[in-house]
Amino acid sequence: MADPAGTASPRAPATPWRGRLATLAWYTLVLLGCAAWVHGTLVSLRLPLAGALQVLAGTALALAASRFPIRLSRTDQSFSAASIFTVLLLLLHGPAAAGLAAAAEVLGTRWRGKQHWTAPVLEATGAALAMLLCGSLLQWLLPQPTGHTAAVLMAAMIFGGLHHAARSALALTLQGLRRARAPALDELVGGFGWAGIAHAATAATAALLFIERQHSGGVVMLAMVAIVALLFTTLHFFTLQQQADDAVRQAAADAIEREAELAASIARERAAALKAHHLRELEQSERRFHNAFTHASIGMALLHFDGRIRQANPALHALLGREAVALESQLFGDLLSPADAALLRQEMARVAARETESLSLELCCRHRDGSEVWVSANSSLFSEPGANEPCFILQIQDISARRRAEHELRHRAFHDKLTGLPNRERFNEVLCAALAAAQVDPQRRFAVLFLDFDRFKLINDSQGHAAGDEFLVRASGRLHRCLRHRDTLARLGGDEFAILADDLADDADAVVLAERLLECLREPLGLAGLAVTASASIGITFSSMGYRSPEDMLRDADIAMYRAKVDGKARFALFDVRLHTEVSNRLRLEADLRDALAQRQLTVAYQPLFELATGRLQGFEALARWNHPTLGPVSPGTFIPIAEESGLVVQLTDFVLDTACRQLRQWQRANPDFDEISLHVNVAAHDVAGGGLVTRVTEALNRTGLLPRHLTIELTENILMTQLASALGTLRQLRELGVGLAVDDFGTGYSSLSHLSVLPIDSLKIDMSFVRNLRVGSSEAAVIRAIVLLGTSLGKRVIAEGIETRSQQEQLRDLGCELGQGFYLSRPLPPAAVPHLLNAAPTQPVPLDPLHEHAMDRHIH
Ligand code: C2E
Ligand code: MG
Ligand code: MG
Repeated sequence: MADPAGTASPRAPATPWRGRLATLAWYTLVLLGCAAWVHGTLVSLRLPLAGALQVLAGTALALAASRFPIRLSRTDQSFSAASIFTVLLLLLHGPAAAGLAAAAEVLGTRWRGKQHWTAPVLEATGAALAMLLCGSLLQWLLPQPTGHTAAVLMAAMIFGGLHHAARSALALTLQGLRRARAPALDELVGGFGWAGIAHAATAATAALLFIERQHSGGVVMLAMVAIVALLFTTLHFFTLQQQADDAVRQAAADAIEREAELAASIARERAAALKAHHLRELEQSERRFHNAFTHASIGMALLHFDGRIRQANPALHALLGREAVALESQLFGDLLSPADAALLRQEMARVAARETESLSLELCCRHRDGSEVWVSANSSLFSEPGANEPCFILQIQDISARRRAEHELRHRAFHDKLTGLPNRERFNEVLCAALAAAQVDPQRRFAVLFLDFDRFKLINDSQGHAAGDEFLVRASGRLHRCLRHRDTLARLGGDEFAILADDLADDADAVVLAERLLECLREPLGLAGLAVTASASIGITFSSMGYRSPEDMLRDADIAMYRAKVDGKARFALFDVRLHTEVSNRLRLEADLRDALAQRQLTVAYQPLFELATGRLQGFEALARWNHPTLGPVSPGTFIPIAEESGLVVQLTDFVLDTACRQLRQWQRANPDFDEISLHVNVAAHDVAGGGLVTRVTEALNRTGLLPRHLTIELTENILMTQLASALGTLRQLRELGVGLAVDDFGTGYSSLSHLSVLPIDSLKIDMSFVRNLRVGSSEAAVIRAIVLLGTSLGKRVIAEGIETRSQQEQLRDLGCELGQGFYLSRPLPPAAVPHLLNAAPTQPVPLDPLHEHAMDRHIH
């Protein structure tokens, strides 16, 4: 039969029975069980020997078979072939004998050594008792088991089930007693399960064996018993194998589960550690932020979205000279100028709308003491941990020192150091702004006055630079006092000043202003104990002329000023249409001259120089000629000053130098009479100041092959006087080269005659103004005599220019003047006319035929 004990207590704790009731139940059951066992033994012993042996064999087989239980998969229950022998003994010899087998079966199953002995003893005696009771019930129900087969089978199955149920109930009850808890109903019902069915089946098997024994005898039954035993043994090992497989699978599943749990717990631990780390970092960063905020050397503040100060650090308090309480909850914009506050509000709105990440502004804050504090403000959104909404973090850096320095630098860059007035750059800015405004509003009128002091150079030269400076400071102060507040007075440089008379009702207002300025300058200035009168010349031009650039307007005012100077100084002149035309013509001529030089449209005329005593041709003066394509011949008196002002004169000199040297060399090659003829070439101030004159002359000589002693460079007395120091080196080098040097227009430049002894010049050209008025006994005659005396005593040749009459020529000759040139002797000639001149009067004494020269000159003019 099946093992009912397996259903009840496989997990019973291996402890002795405790508790009074449990102990009482144990003793009671064990005693009753022992009684049933003893009774079974006695009944068996009274059986015939074969019967007693059958009981003994059945009990032994039950004991042996119980060692091979068949466990029901996924339950705690099991059964074994032992039940078959127990039920077979019941059917053969009654419940008392079967009780022995039942006890043996239980002992075989339960005696594992792991449990306390009280449990198997109780279960074995209980099994004997249960068998006795249930078996007795079966006997009562089926007094003769030899009856109908089906009835035997059915009775056996009912017995099997009942016996199992009784044993299970008994086991559960005992367990309940032991644990002091009544077994639940589902435990009682659930305890029946598959084992109950197995027990019923094994009981039926026993019944079948029993019936087979009735029909076929004991041998067949034994064989069947063996087969059944084999079957159960196979099943036992099969289930053992299955259990082993299950155990392996379970172990693997357990291992996976444990690993999963382990991994989950590691992940949980890591997550917890990470969270803790983050928390720590957050706390640290918060602490760091607060430290940085509090101890920052620059001002910092947290602002609400509406611009109120939430918190400000000590540096900001110090920067603005305000207490913490005074700042908190105050609108930051209230500390700024209204314009800056509006700008800040606007930028903050952009940051709040996420249009930009941050703002960066330079603002002017008000210190508590009323002073201005320039700051650089940078701000962005900031979320404080734990705060509901973000706020602005504002960093404020004091840049007042930088702003002051910038202001100072700007002031320096745009103001004159001496007078503190705006300088040329600043004046240009103001003028630009005025021109732009006039373009927008054509009704707006303004004027520019260009003012130049008339005698500043004299003051500077006679009183020294310090006095000159003082003069400029005081005179400009006086000018400034005459102006209206909207006018701008600027020093352009030297003694040149400009005034922008803005917002005029009428152009005549500028004239009134100019008169006022001239008037206030008429009052003498006390300068180092001297009463100095500071007259000035003023040029005026008006915005109504339609200017577009400040340079043009200033230039025209300058031109007008120049006109005032020409007209006699200490006055004003207006830039008008006539002047405008003059300037335009001049500008056009300048452009044309540039083209003419580039295209070599200029020519050279040669005016002969004669020895006045003999009439011998001594040389030529090379004179530039320009035949304008549309205007015709342009006088050197017109184009030479333009060339000088525009710097084109350097090109012009090179052209004349090169052309004339080449020409003379050509004549020398063609006719030996030219061998000792010399060439005079004029140079300008630019040529001398440029520093490259020696090289240029050398190159021209080298290029053309003319000997240096055949070339004389003419410089006006003015050039010599203004650039004496710088020109000296150049002149010496030219002399060393062998080139002659002549002072042109001598007598007009007020040069000190004492200079003549140190200058490396070898001839003086007496200006034609002396010659023109030369009469016997005139002052000009006295001057010429003095010059001739001085020149000859210093070993210099004296040349007279502008000889227009025979009388002039004779007087000059008589005064001892060595050489002469003039229309009377010969006009400047085109190169083609020169050989003819030589053929006609190579070394003839004067007079030459003036008509002839005039006829030739017509080729030129
Ligand atoms: P300058 O060097 O004193 O030249 C003499 C000027 O006097 C020439 O005028 C000449 O034509 C003029 N002249 C000669 N004899 C008489 C006379 O009897 N009566 C009158 N009224 N004038 C006479 P031009 O050619 O018109 O030149 C004027 C000035 O232009 C020159 O004066 C010179 O300073 C300058 N110039 C001419 N050509 C050149 C040149 O190639 N280079 C430079 N740097 N200046 C030149
Ligand atoms: Mg000359
Ligand atoms: Mg001259």
